[in-house]
Parts: sequence; C-alpha cells; structure tokens
Amino acid sequence: MPVNNIEPKFEVLHMPPENTNSVLVTVGTDAVIFDAWGNSKDWEKLLESRGLRLIAIYSTHGHGDHISAAPMLAEKYDVPWYLNSEDNVLISWSNNLLKYFGLPLIEGNYRQPTDVEAGEKEILPGLFVDVIETPGHTPGGVTYYFPDYGVLLTGDTLFRDSFGRYDLPGGDANAIMQSISKLYEMNFPDETFVVHGHGIDSTIALLKKENPYFK
Ligand SMILES: [Zn+2]
Repeated sequence: MPVNNIEPKFEVLHMPPENTNSVLVTVGTDAVIFDAWGNSKDWEKLLESRGLRLIAIYSTHGHGDHISAAPMLAEKYDVPWYLNSEDNVLISWSNNLLKYFGLPLIEGNYRQPTDVEAGEKEILPGLFVDVIETPGHTPGGVTYYFPDYGVLLTGDTLFRDSFGRYDLPGGDANAIMQSISKLYEMNFPDETFVVHGHGIDSTIALLKKENPYFK
C-alpha cells in the first residue's frame, strides 16, 4: 500500500558495536529511525551517503542499547526523539553501558526526549503506527505496530523464543507477562513481520509455534 505513491521500506540494521536491531523506515528520501543504537556518527554517514532526510527518532524503551545515538542525532538534525516519559529516569543509567562500549555518553545539552503516548500516530505523511504500551522490561516500554504493512517492533518485551529481562532498573516480572498476553490478545495477523529488540526476526505464526511465553 503506497504512501503518496511511494512504497515505504522497512530495513533492519545492525550498527556496531552490538547486536541491537535498529529499524530504518523510509518513504522516498524521508527517514525515521526506531531504536537508534550505536554511534550517531555512523548514522550520519549512512543518512548522508543515501541522501536521506531524518524526520524523527523513536525508541521502544530507554535502555542505552536502544537510545545511544538518539539524542545526538535529534540535536544534529533538529528533529524530535520520542520515548515514553516513564523511561526518562533510565537515560542517565544508560551511560554505564555506553561507557562499556566506548560510545559517547548522553550528557550535557543533549536533546531531551518527547513523550510518546499510546494510540495511533502519523510518523510520515500517510504512514501510521500504533503505539502500544508494553511495560515490564522497563516501565515505559512500548511496541510499535504498522497496521497497513503488517510490521511489529517489540523492543525487548518479546524475543523470538523468549522475552526481555525484568531484573534491570525499572523492570517488573508481572508487568512483562501482562504485556506479552496483551500483545497475544491483540490477534495480529499470522504473517505479521516481527522485529525484536535483539536476535532473529519472526512472525506472529512463528511466535505462536516457538515462543512458549507468547500466549
Ligand atoms: Zn532493554
């Protein structure tokens, strides 16, 4: 289903130095990044080499391996960075991880996140995403669903055969189980393409078959 006669593209990218799944969504030369992991300089090179115009950045949650490049990119291109405000408290804690990976720390006058609320959101003209609150891995964790394209971005709430940790700051075991049930009960079509925060991609059909927690 084209948006203004252009087919949107969804690309899963693995920016160094870790295995976080970042997702680049483009419609023509307009680009939106979900979970901008890695060094912002690497993203700048990628955007510039492809002549892309960054419109916004979205994070599934506030852990360092899902936000490291977001504040710097948002500042550089003067675009919003969306994060559920329940996770704002995790941003400074994220620096421990960034230090470990030798990445620039999030500090000083970095771009503050804009709260992302549950519900439908037009992220590019004609391209809609449903924001679904899925707390548990973190208090402000969200899942993004593109109903017109059958793409679901779960962050660390759900993996192909397991689910995210709940023992990190702000984690809650009951909440993550409820969030997984909530996603299950939303009855997404079996062929929905699911990108997890880490690891191999799946579909709703595969999750039903292979993930014992997806029920
Ligand atoms: Zn996480």
